[in-house]
Amino acid sequence: MSNTLENAKNDVAALRKQLNEYNYQYYVLDDPTVPDAQYDRDMQALIALEQEFPELKSANSPSQKVGGAALSAFEQVTHEVPMLSLDNAFDDASLLAFEKRLKDRLKDNAPLSFSCEPKLDGLAVSILYENGELVRAATRGDGQVGENITANVRTISNIPLSLRGEQWPERVEVRGEVFMPRDGFEKLNESQRGKGAKVFANPRNAAAGSLRQLDSKITAKRPLMFYAYSLGVVQPDTFELPNSHSERLNKLASWGLPLCPDISTADGGNGCLEYYNLILNKRDALPYDIDGVVFKVDDIAIQNRLGFVARAPRWAIAQKFPAQEEVTTLIDVEFQV
Ligand code: NAD
Repeated sequence: MSNTLENAKNDVAALRKQLNEYNYQYYVLDDPTVPDAQYDRDMQALIALEQEFPELKSANSPSQKVGGAALSAFEQVTHEVPMLSLDNAFDDASLLAFEKRLKDRLKDNAPLSFSCEPKLDGLAVSILYENGELVRAATRGDGQVGENITANVRTISNIPLSLRGEQWPERVEVRGEVFMPRDGFEKLNESQRGKGAKVFANPRNAAAGSLRQLDSKITAKRPLMFYAYSLGVVQPDTFELPNSHSERLNKLASWGLPLCPDISTADGGNGCLEYYNLILNKRDALPYDIDGVVFKVDDIAIQNRLGFVARAPRWAIAQKFPAQEEVTTLIDVEFQV
């Protein structure tokens, strides 16, 4: 730990430079060179220094930013509602501290209910439906501007091109994760090996490399899936939606959007910890990779009271699982632009 401002300044500068480089490799090139656990440790070290020395805080710090810049090879999409990241908890105590922070901020000690969701390890995608028809899909990018990947998203078989029923808003943006299930990932790497082509380091890289292709015929051959987990734009704003996040997810399901089957709800921080342990124990048996679980205050009115900070909502947190890998050999990722 740097104990003087001068030391801290140097350490902060070095960590920011390093994290910016990791972000570029991970988000722009889809080709990380260090395991996530290493990235998370450096990020936590930076956040700790910025908290200890608030005079070193900066809006340009990687601790304040979401993702990476959109690739210019794709048409750019400006998000009408920003696509943010999530704050992290790395242990039970920080999850319980999160619940306490919420109650303190709300000045209300009443128990809070949470939507509990596996944290799928893929890419965040936003899909816009107009009059029930899929018209555009975009990556998160830096949270403000993403990449237009409509043609590629259309090839994902569990994404509806038209919504079911008739009771949907004229414009509705569905947000969720595109990921590659483990069995598909294994088969894909087997076939890549057979062809003497590059194999993918993990399902997240395979999903990213497959989705950000300029040729949607390649994407179409990849075993990608999508699970919805929230809404973005909803117009007209008088359209009546349920008052809780979990009921809104059910509404998405009624329109034909796929949801992760392991989503649940829980009461209070202790209920969340039970869910965390349940999913952690099931982790290896799940058909998809996850790197933790996400807890979201279920009541939308309370979410609105809590609001957002620069890069994440105050009403949600991702509790990460202990790192599975320390140093994996990361192999080149196929990436065609
Ligand atoms: P994040 O992964 O901590 O959380 C935000 C993301 O979670 C969302 O954008 C969404 O894609 C995803 N998500 C999955 N399930 C969700 C659900 N049910 N509800 C809401 N969101 C859900 O944040 P991030 O900014 O995308 O990435 C940071 C993480 O990425 C780091 O902690 C690290 O693990 C990894 N990373 C690694 C490197 C590297 O070089 N190895 C570089 C950058 C980032």
